Amino acid sequence: MSDQSHQLLSPRRRTRQVRVGSVRVGGDAPISVQSMTKTDSRDVEATVHQIYDYAAHGCEIVRVSVPTKKAGEVFHEICSRSPIPVVADIHFDYRLALVAADGGAACLRINPGNIGGQDRVRAVVEKAGEKGISLRVGVNAGSLEKDLLEKFGSATPEAMVASALRHLEVLDREGFQEVKISLKASDVPRTVQAYRLLARQVDVPLHLGITEAGTPFGGTIRSAMGLGILLAEGIGDTIRVSLTGKGEEECDVGHEILRGLGLREGGFRMVSCPSCGRVQIDLDRVAHEIEAGLKAIGQENVTYAVMGCVVNGPGEARDADLGVAGGAGEGLIYRRGELIRKVKEEDLVPAFLEEARRLKAELDGAKV
Ligand code: SF4
Repeated sequence: MSDQSHQLLSPRRRTRQVRVGSVRVGGDAPISVQSMTKTDSRDVEATVHQIYDYAAHGCEIVRVSVPTKKAGEVFHEICSRSPIPVVADIHFDYRLALVAADGGAACLRINPGNIGGQDRVRAVVEKAGEKGISLRVGVNAGSLEKDLLEKFGSATPEAMVASALRHLEVLDREGFQEVKISLKASDVPRTVQAYRLLARQVDVPLHLGITEAGTPFGGTIRSAMGLGILLAEGIGDTIRVSLTGKGEEECDVGHEILRGLGLREGGFRMVSCPSCGRVQIDLDRVAHEIEAGLKAIGQENVTYAVMGCVVNGPGEARDADLGVAGGAGEGLIYRRGELIRKVKEEDLVPAFLEEARRLKAELDGAKV
């Protein structure tokens, strides 16, 4: 974490630690990024394929819904082929939770207050204990219990917290501690307030998310705001960005939120200017093509700069590990403060990527 991040962020909230397969959540574990598959979970091939795509984008935990008996029957195949721990998403039917646990789930997302009597809760908890897996209680403002809606008037943050505490109490009665919890609403103020209220009352690790956050544009903004506020207050142990779009994008956004706050290293940082009337190259194309090429190169912990002109360009480009400042139909490439190449606009992207590969080869060589 950088010095600036230390000044910005409150100390991380102390929580107990739970395990989701090989991933630790809470305590001093790094904040993990997770997502959920969007395929029909009866389709093993499509689901496993999607999990691999997510993993390639840094997904560390994946959730798969198990809505039916048929989905339960093939769930073990998904778990055995998944490169990352799988959380089974279960609603209401405790028998599916038992099937998913036997099938290799690393965690069960189930709300214990909604599955019937304490005997059913006991059956799930005993199975989870036997298999060494954790549970996630997932409170959602859209599906709060009726009596709480009546008591609080609507799905307020207080009502969400009351629901969370109720589910936790059911688990407490069974002495079950391996639990994390989420409290999601589709708007930022309610979500933030609910997590803040709960964070003061329990030491359970928190899974953060703005639910049904929207399409990538609005959803990314709302997620960055909500999760950013909470993370800056030291609240949150694992995050999921929900977007109406590709899960890979959810993972990318999740990592970017953590990196933006200095909570995650790795990946690269790309500085690029918005362009203005001074620009004399097609900066939009150049920046997007360079970014796509850099993703393929995959260098870690490096800053790149793609700047439009010679006013602010050279400064930023010089400060970066590798930077380009546009000119009149050409560009100057800087490497760690030094001007190394002057190339025509049409050669800018390949020349920049060539230098990026060279830098990577040197940095990788230096590590050995
Ligand atoms: S670097 Fe140049 S082109 Fe880009 S915004 Fe600044 S002044 Fe405009």
